Formats: sequence, structure tokens, C-alpha cells
Amino acid sequence: MTDPVARPRKQEQEPATTTITELAPGVLRSELPIDMPGLGHVNCYFLEDDRGVAVVDPGLPSKDSYVALEARLKSAGFPLQRVHTVIVTHSHPDHFGGAGWLRAETGAEIVTHSSFRLMWDPTEPPDIDVDDVASLRDPEPVGGGEEPIRLGRRYPWEPTPWGGPGVEIPLRRRLWFRAARTFPRLRKMPVPSVRLDEADTISLAGRDWIAVHTPGHTDDHLCLFDPTEGCMLCGDHVLPTITPHIGGLGSYRDPLGTFFDSLDKIGSYGPQVKLALPAHGRPFTDLAGRAQEIKEHHAGRLQKLRDASIEMDRPASVMEMSTHLFAPRSLGGMADSETFAHLEHLRLAGEMERVDRDGVLEYVLTD
Ligand SMILES: [Zn+2]
Ligand SMILES: [Zn+2]
Repeated sequence: MTDPVARPRKQEQEPATTTITELAPGVLRSELPIDMPGLGHVNCYFLEDDRGVAVVDPGLPSKDSYVALEARLKSAGFPLQRVHTVIVTHSHPDHFGGAGWLRAETGAEIVTHSSFRLMWDPTEPPDIDVDDVASLRDPEPVGGGEEPIRLGRRYPWEPTPWGGPGVEIPLRRRLWFRAARTFPRLRKMPVPSVRLDEADTISLAGRDWIAVHTPGHTDDHLCLFDPTEGCMLCGDHVLPTITPHIGGLGSYRDPLGTFFDSLDKIGSYGPQVKLALPAHGRPFTDLAGRAQEIKEHHAGRLQKLRDASIEMDRPASVMEMSTHLFAPRSLGGMADSETFAHLEHLRLAGEMERVDRDGVLEYVLTD
């Protein structure tokens, strides 16, 4: 599958419409507005059964988003009281936002992967299920089984372990983060009531769906597969025309390698998947092909880092390496985090060395 040509913008960036589309028996797509860098809407899927409706990824934690969600449910013919379940594919605000509100109003179950964790949520123990997660990933860790560089900070705008600045976040959103961390209940932060493990099943749209854990974009990313109709709810794991952000600061030692494994895992369903239902952009058919394309995109970035290191012929910081991967307008904490994930992947593969120069990590190709 190739990127669509001659479009004014990527489909994930298109603003939300009010259209409701039926994609498979009992599976409806609606779109909610979001204002996040590079994204114009989030898909909120409605899965209808005899009991009522399950809602997948109910948008941002804002009044506007919740009003839009209520309107979409209504135009699809679902009174709010019929919502019995909310599925949250992963712990990003454009996906969990409306979950706590829906639960407060309807008593709906909140379903997530078992490792679901809001990074700033003080009511969650740190490193929940990390042992389980690690055992899935690294039975025999490469590189001596060292611990990952952990997120020893509370907010994403704080300085990073590689010695660079954090993510630039506007003041309004910083205040929201602080309030959500300090008053999680008041801000209706979601608390999962059903945590799914790999291969668990859940009944949605009148049939069983299988939980597929796909860490990479976040540690707790959950996809759901419907073997009856061949639908795969794939959240942000695989998007139709943009590549999901892979940060370097999760629980995994090698977030990029972990993401590759999760792409292989989703690709292994092959033609069993007839329709991929992404969280942004339009549903698409060739999930395995798109997963492979995303892997190739990252392989290209790894090669750019090798080439940059050869050209410079000296150790270079994450921030400097970042300039070889990203356009100037994209540089900053998010870009650095992604560069860090790529550099650590090369280091753990034995291709790069890491040196600590007064708190700033530098990387160079091994001889
Ligand atoms: Zn996300
Ligand atoms: Zn998203």
C-alpha cells in the first residue's frame, strides 16, 4: 500500500466530520475533533450488540470533545445510557479522554490492556506489570540484561536522561497535566475496570474479539482482533499514512525493537485481517503490508544515523543526531526521544557505543 498522492494533507490530519459509517456488522466509525500536532481527528468506533454499545477511544478529555461524542452517539441512534463498555487502546489523552466521563454517567466498564498506566497518575504503582512485560519481550536480554533508562521525571517537559530539553508543551496543557496528576478523580482520569492480557477474549458487537498486546508506541498498547469478520482495531499501532511516534522512555530497554516485534505480530495475521480500523485516518485493507512499510521507514532512519556517524567520525549527542533525521521545524523533545529510541536500538544491536559526557549522552558507531 502506498501513500495517497495529490491530497492536500495526510488523511490523519483531516478535520473531524460528523459522518457515521458502518464498516462491518455492528461496527460503526465516528470521528471526534482533536487539536494535537499533526492530527485532525480521532476515530471513535461504536460496537453494537444486544446489550447496547461499546465505545472505542472516546476522544480528548475536554468538554468540547465530550459534547461531540454525545452528539455522535445520538446520531448513530444510541442513547448515552446504552453505553456499557469503553475500550481504551492506549494511555494517550486523545484515546482515554472521554472514558472517565462515560463511566461516571453510565457505569460503563473501562477496558484496557493489563499494563495500562497513565504516566503521571500517582494512584498507580510505578512499573506496574513490568516483570510480565519484560518476560514477553526479552527472555534473554541482549547486552547483559541492563535496566532501561527510566523516566525519572514527572512531566514530559522536564529535562531528559540524554541531557536534552523535554517536550515543549503550552502552558494551558501543562496546567491540565498538573491538575490531572494532582486531582485524578476530579479530572475524571480513567481507572480500568477490566484489564486484558494477551489472547484474552471479550464479547463486542455480538462476537468474540481477541486481545493482542502491541507495545511500541506506548508500553500498554492494545489491539483487538475479530476472527469472525476479520476486523482489527489497531489504535495508533499502525496508521494508514503516518508513522506513530516511538519514544525512547518506556519500560522496555529497546522500544524500537519492541515496536518492530509488535509490527511483525500484527503482520502475522496476514489475510485473516480484512479491515484494519486505525485510530486516525480511514480504515484500510492491507494491514500486513502497511506494517512492513512502517518497518522499512524506521530501517531508513537507522541507516541515516549510521551514515551521519560515519560522516561526523566522532561521538554526537542525541540532539545533534536528531538534526540528521528530522526537518528543522520538527526538532525538539519529541524528535529527540524518537532519535534516542533509534540510537539505543543500534547500541543494543552492538552497532553503536554510548558515552556519557558530563550528563550528555553521545553515540558513535563501533569500530
Ligand atoms: Zn497515541
Ligand atoms: Zn492517537
